[in-house]
Amino acid sequence: LSHEVAKSERAHIASQLAASVAHEVRNPMTVIKGFLQLLRSDKQLSDKYQHYLITMELELERATAIITDYLSFAKPGKIKVERFLVKDQLNFVIQTLTSYALLKGVEIRCQDRMDCYIKGSKEKFQQVLLNIVKNGVEASNNNSFIDLETVKRGESVIITIRDYGHGMESEQIAKAGLPFYTTKETGTGLGLMVCYQIIKAMDGRIHIDSKLGRGTCFTIILPSEE
Ligand code: ADP
Ligand code: MG
Repeated sequence: LSHEVAKSERAHIASQLAASVAHEVRNPMTVIKGFLQLLRSDKQLSDKYQHYLITMELELERATAIITDYLSFAKPGKIKVERFLVKDQLNFVIQTLTSYALLKGVEIRCQDRMDCYIKGSKEKFQQVLLNIVKNGVEASNNNSFIDLETVKRGESVIITIRDYGHGMESEQIAKAGLPFYTTKETGTGLGLMVCYQIIKAMDGRIHIDSKLGRGTCFTIILPSEE
């Protein structure tokens, strides 16, 4: 037993450390990115050096994405399991992502007429929503929408996140969520893996429905906590 306690204590310390590192590392990375962009705006630079700078920016973007996909809302010192309203967390994530989405010409819409309660860590659930909605925005064309909806059906809460973007083939759907599977230049291929892990730990599951060229719908099914 004491061995198990030590193991879970170690895991806790590791995740706390990761959360602190994420917070501390983001700022210097933003500063580096700013200076790289400044350097690149120098028109006298040779093509060779321009290319070096672009490569550095892309790699920096990938490093930043790892923090976003893994640790965005992880708060040092706070892994608390509680009962909460789905609606509040959807609104929080919409607030966080609205300006990013608008920059890409995408509007996030939300329909929530029911008060649905679930149980888990709010921060981890926010991470799930962030990763799926962000993928939706990244898959969308200009002038598009992301539609979020929550309903209660029997003992389950069903959350749908729908986009009208480029969609996936069935092979892609099968691979989505495998570690490091990405089709993006600076993708991590870790976002959906994290979502699957978190939702599984909450006794829920995720279903993907997608049509190439038409869009994708993610469904998250979780036990309702009345
Ligand atoms: P990343 O976003 O870093 O590529 P993810 O694990 O979040 O990693 O997603 C894995 C892959 O699944 C993406 O690269 C993309 O090919 C596919 N995918 C995920 N969400 C969508 C979506 N809404 N529409 C189309 N493809 C998607
Ligand atoms: Mg992603």
